[in-house]
Amino acid sequence: MNAPRLYDNHGRLINYVRLAVTDRCNLRCFYCMPEEGIQYVAREDLLTYEEMLRLMHLLAGMGIEKVRITGGEPFVRKDMLPFLRDLCRVPGIRKVNVTTNGTLTAGRVAELQAAGIHSVNLSLDTLDPERFRRITRRDQFDAVLRTFRELLDHGMPTKLNAVVMAGKNIADILPMVELTREHPVGVRFIEEMPFNGEGSHYPVLEWNHRKIRAYIQEAYPGLEKLPDPPHSTSANYRVPGYRGTVGIIAAYSRTFCGSCNRIRLTPQGLLKTCLYDDGVFNVRDLMRHGASDEQLRDAFLSALGNRAKDGWEAEQNRTFGLPVTESMSTIGG
Ligand code: SAM
Ligand code: SF4
Repeated sequence: MNAPRLYDNHGRLINYVRLAVTDRCNLRCFYCMPEEGIQYVAREDLLTYEEMLRLMHLLAGMGIEKVRITGGEPFVRKDMLPFLRDLCRVPGIRKVNVTTNGTLTAGRVAELQAAGIHSVNLSLDTLDPERFRRITRRDQFDAVLRTFRELLDHGMPTKLNAVVMAGKNIADILPMVELTREHPVGVRFIEEMPFNGEGSHYPVLEWNHRKIRAYIQEAYPGLEKLPDPPHSTSANYRVPGYRGTVGIIAAYSRTFCGSCNRIRLTPQGLLKTCLYDDGVFNVRDLMRHGASDEQLRDAFLSALGNRAKDGWEAEQNRTFGLPVTESMSTIGG
């Protein structure tokens, strides 16, 4: 008998899971984590690789086809590569993608490819080493650039994620668009969200998706709108004649919720049916209390049967309260 597919109460098919494999990180990005005072999840509270693989088998049976590995920084977790290899072999999972800060991946891109990783999103908010140090509070720019070059050399489908921050990296927007002239990469500019462990940095988000687009269009009046793939969170563009593309992600303005096809699992096994909710149930606890596959499937179906229609409603329904202050390193982006 086939397991039921994962539909939510708004008729949206869920075929994509974002799996945050750790909350630990070797950078301290301004928009993601406070500089000090971080309380990491105890190791025994993290989902084990066995638990994650069990869940991915189960979810693949319910129609999940795509998994994104995120964190924290995935590659600070020991034995990540063997886990990725196992994950890429789960029947039904067609694409395993990784989001990484690129500090620990230089010299390992061939292994990622051999493991079966389909694409990499590399977080890089600036092309200037000093601004990189100020944003990430660490001196790792060269390592990230090495990863970037290696991704390109290996022909790995690559996107660059840049969070746009007033007063921090506005001067990088146009040079990053320029990267798409030579390189077949997707450079994506992301609205800054308040998930930094402390709460919003601004009373009103100045650099929203409209302002980012207008700023790029002023420099590139011929900027072409591209058709957006189904479920895309980015509005996509190309400078005519350039090899790569430019994406703008309205992560704070939440313009894309209507076609959302994704769920999230945090490092300690909390299911989030929206980035902005505060978790629906803990699947690790169910597994450690001996839940059968059928009980786990029922728990997922029931969570999705009661899903907020968009990120605004999910935020309003939070039981931990408002405003949003978690660190993105505990969610995975
Ligand atoms: N450590 C990896 C990395 O940086 O790529 C993976 C985890 S990180 C939380 C995933 C993505 O979330 C990154 O692309 C990062 O830029 C983005 N992100 C983190 N905090 C954010 C925030 N407050 N607003 C918007 N994007 C954020
Ligand atoms: Fe670490 Fe990624 Fe968060 Fe930066 S965005 S602090 S690299 S988890």
